[in-house]
Amino acid sequence: MRSHLLNDLTAEHYHRSVTEGVERVAATLAATDRPFTGVTVDALAPCIDRIDLDRPLHDTSAVLDELEEVYLRDAIYFHHPRYLAHLNCPVVIPAVLGEAVLSAVNSSLDTWDQSAGGTLIERRLIDWTAERLGLGAAADGVFTSGGTQSNLQALFLAREEAKTDRLDRLRVFASEVSHFSVRKSAKLLGLGPDAVVSVPVGHDKRMQTVALARELERCARDGLVPMAVVATAGTTDFGSIDPLPEIAELCARSGVWLHVDAAYGCGLLASLRHRDRLAGIECADSVTVDYHKSFFQPVSSSAVLVRDAAVLRHATYHAEYLNPRRMVQERIPNQVDKSLQTTRRFDALKLWLTLRTMGADGVGQLFDEVCERAQEGWRLLAADPRFDVVVRPQLSTLVFRHVPAAVTDPAEIDRANLYARKALFASGDAVVAGTEVGGRHYLKFTLLNPETTADDISAVLDRIAGHAEQYLGESLDRAS
Ligand SMILES: *Cc1c(COP(=O)(O)O)cnc(C)c1O
Repeated sequence: MRSHLLNDLTAEHYHRSVTEGVERVAATLAATDRPFTGVTVDALAPCIDRIDLDRPLHDTSAVLDELEEVYLRDAIYFHHPRYLAHLNCPVVIPAVLGEAVLSAVNSSLDTWDQSAGGTLIERRLIDWTAERLGLGAAADGVFTSGGTQSNLQALFLAREEAKTDRLDRLRVFASEVSHFSVRKSAKLLGLGPDAVVSVPVGHDKRMQTVALARELERCARDGLVPMAVVATAGTTDFGSIDPLPEIAELCARSGVWLHVDAAYGCGLLASLRHRDRLAGIECADSVTVDYHKSFFQPVSSSAVLVRDAAVLRHATYHAEYLNPRRMVQERIPNQVDKSLQTTRRFDALKLWLTLRTMGADGVGQLFDEVCERAQEGWRLLAADPRFDVVVRPQLSTLVFRHVPAAVTDPAEIDRANLYARKALFASGDAVVAGTEVGGRHYLKFTLLNPETTADDISAVLDRIAGHAEQYLGESLDRAS
């Protein structure tokens, strides 16, 4: 059994096992001709249930054969150009290499004495990101597991900085299409049930600053305390970017913490063409970035950045065994002093190898390409009478629905679009997402794959229309 422990004696076994695994994955990737097989839960669950976890196979090849059956064959493949659904990206190879290195060395980034150079690399990348954001010389931050955690930490810091400890009086302002992690965080932070004030958006799905100003005034009038405004730079559903400069100005005027949730839009930090769309982000008190969305990094890789490093002290707790107070005087860099997590992956290594291999411009070019593809997709949709498209994309999202010429009942159109999405998923030919707009069901493409062509987009649109028409035809038959 000792042969399974990775060490000097087993280096050769490690090399062989991992190489075999990499070969399988490479072969699978080379052979996938659609993003999904369309397997159902009912078909797959028994294959997994059948496996006796108390009877190991003891053999890497046999284990990989089994893995093929239970996972690899039917997984959802984000690298396929017709995977158009959620905010998942195809990953860049330098980052995958980073993943292999970081799990083999298995540094833990909580303390210097568990990571050494890993800590310094993470710090450099935080500084690099803060500089691209323009947060100023006092900025700092830490890597997290994802945007949800980054938002939670940012709002936790905002709560600690708030000018009251009456939690029921605190208010957070976020647009009606902000991410649900804002509301989840408010709940976790012990705020009241009405704590998150939903600010309306315009037709462009960006926060209406007039409405925000009104809500801030109402808050003051009611004797409540504004804890934070959350501006979204790239909404999950539409890719819309709230008007950051105007929001920043309102925050400055009323002394409110500005958090910018750039989980999606952070890719613009590397963009060669559209960095200006993030103008105003430099005024934020805190920012969420998800490298695992628009920096083409494997899950997980995210960070929370703050304008003033000192606020991170709210997350600082000392333990004699780990990070005693004296280490601060000794200037030993323990990242746990800034983090909600303790043991923590060296996710930063993936971004490091990405920047060292392709540079930020390489990442930005990929993101610019998908933004360009979204514009092409928008032109296709806008010119196609079969579809109604919601907003011209600011990033890489398209929200639309099939509108059959002969049907006027909106509920029937909803059902046809829902059916089309499900039928497409079951076929495995493409994967698309859905959302609600004005109470109606819409479909969504989130384009994050530069390999997705305009032809892919048209082909998938044809299939959607085909499935929807088929549904409507059958529903006519049912009615007659
Ligand atoms: C994806 C997303 C999140 C949540 O990030 P995770 O990494 O999935 O936890 C938060 N905010 C926005 C705007 C997002 O798009």
